[in-house]
Amino acid sequence: MENQKKGCLYIISGPSGCGKNTVFDALAAKDPHIGQTVSTTTRKPRDGERDGVDYYFISESEFLQKIDNNEFLEHVCYANNYYGTLRSEIDRVLNEYEKAALVIEINGALNIKKLYPSAVSVFLMPPSLETLRERIACRGGMSDEDLERRMQTALQEMEQRYLYDYIVVNDILEKTVEEVYNIINK
Ligand code: 5GP
Repeated sequence: MENQKKGCLYIISGPSGCGKNTVFDALAAKDPHIGQTVSTTTRKPRDGERDGVDYYFISESEFLQKIDNNEFLEHVCYANNYYGTLRSEIDRVLNEYEKAALVIEINGALNIKKLYPSAVSVFLMPPSLETLRERIACRGGMSDEDLERRMQTALQEMEQRYLYDYIVVNDILEKTVEEVYNIINK
């Protein structure tokens, strides 16, 4: 599965609410050579989210069709929705940037690491469980049940942090970004 661009893949992962996307956005502002794959999901868009930018938003039947067509490099069912990285996304990003980052949850991250062992994986830890709960709750369109489900998932996910190449505690954004920047530019 590895190709000549294998050295250019970065996996940024961690529980929902650990700040993965915020960290990536700040990282991309600091490092113009890194681009992010756009994931595909069956989740409904939240306020302000744009199709083709934040995600490719598709229906469940379209998603299942793409699984059948083997279009996904990895996909998972997470909090009752499907999420996946299309094979075409890595090439799209690497055509434009030197480095491609996948900002995804834990199971997908570990699957990508199996496919691309030389991909560099970074696990972002929230500074505390209280902070994590607050960050998850801040998102719109989430019931109490969704919140509890995501907290339980987050606790299980954090147990897997030692399977990553690096663990970074996302406490102060600038410090986190500096640490991740140094990891990817080693
Ligand atoms: P959210 O619904 O909050 O946008 O995302 C839920 C979780 O799915 C987050 O942890 C997010 O990083 C993860 N995720 C987003 N896209 C993908 C993907 O393509 N593959 C996998 N495995 N996880 C994804």
